[in-house]
Amino acid sequence: MKTLTTDVAIIGAGPVGLFQIFELGLQGLNTIVIDSLPEIGGQCSELYPDKPIYDIPALPNAKASDVIDNLWQQAAIFDPTFLLAERVEHIEKVSVDSFIVTTNKQTVIHCRAVIIAAGNGAFSPVKLKVPLIDKFEDQQLFYRISNVEHFRDKNVVVLGGGDSALDWGLTLQKVAKSVLLIHRSRNFKAAKSSVNKMVELCEQLKMQFLCGQVSRFKEQDKKLTELTITSKDGVNRRVSLDELVVLFGVSPKLGPIDNWQLEMHQHQIIVDTQSFQTSVSGIYAVGDINYYPGKRKLILSGFHEAALAAFSIAETVLDQDRIPTLYTTTSRVVHKRMGVENSLEEMLN
Ligand code: FAD
Repeated sequence: MKTLTTDVAIIGAGPVGLFQIFELGLQGLNTIVIDSLPEIGGQCSELYPDKPIYDIPALPNAKASDVIDNLWQQAAIFDPTFLLAERVEHIEKVSVDSFIVTTNKQTVIHCRAVIIAAGNGAFSPVKLKVPLIDKFEDQQLFYRISNVEHFRDKNVVVLGGGDSALDWGLTLQKVAKSVLLIHRSRNFKAAKSSVNKMVELCEQLKMQFLCGQVSRFKEQDKKLTELTITSKDGVNRRVSLDELVVLFGVSPKLGPIDNWQLEMHQHQIIVDTQSFQTSVSGIYAVGDINYYPGKRKLILSGFHEAALAAFSIAETVLDQDRIPTLYTTTSRVVHKRMGVENSLEEMLN
């Protein structure tokens, strides 16, 4: 068990969670950010990293992955702690300004306020629906690849037809003994260049492709040894393998948030629009996860919400009625917090 302490725990490292780090930093508050994904960026990174976004103020046309890089650059000056690939399971209110947040990896975070920036819920991989095959998970069946070396000189089957299935298939082809890509059709949702490369490698017999779906598996000495692949016309083929990589994408699941005893409106957390506090004082919700009349699930709405939540938390923590608005352009206090103390003098000279 790991125990950590911070001013504010932020649940979710999507665009709004990342901007929340910055807004809390301006108020002199430090943060720990937890996300169930192994990387930051939420929907922008997982669902549409290469698509341009046109409605981020002052960024007329920016790729989603670039928006995330910029948000991280902006937040990094406040040195947040990230707990990635961890899902928050519980929030316990200990006193007016004391909370305990616990993750599925038994990390315990003591904090003074909690911000839920959880989007549509925790992203988790879409699983292969073959009865009992899940017993091989993390042994021979993988939904993510963290160590390419694990696949060296092995016979690997990759399932999926999107960018990650194609990209990983091409990467593993360089180290594995053999790579067989299996997808239910010949329509790929991946970059044309990756599909062309895969076809070229198949023609050179350096990789294989099969159209169909896994319907059964065989095991021997508690090891996954064979898959049965059923094609659209009902023909079955048997494929032997050492490792199975399933890359069907990810889907968000509200999961534990439903059990946190917060007032909800159709799976979104109700907040008041002055502070973005939930029905439990000290717990805030920003971005796609919250609900109030007129709510729009847009990144720019989340940015505004994050700023007001940060002011409200600072007022509670410092026990002040109203924190003054300080301009980042001219405030010495803010510059000190950001570590850019000389810029005002430079500007005035
Ligand atoms: P998310 O981006 O969803 O991030 C939430 C994070 O919280 C996730 O990473 C999730 O894993 C994590 N999480 C959830 N629960 C837990 C838990 N219990 N423990 C740990 N982590 C957890 N918006 C625009 O403004 N302009 C656009 O042009 C635009 N285009 C879009 C295109 C597409 C295809 C899609 C799908 C969305 C688009 N959006 C656009 C919407 C935009 O992506 C969302 O509004 C934005 O991502 C919301 O940010 P967020 O930080 O609130 O949540």
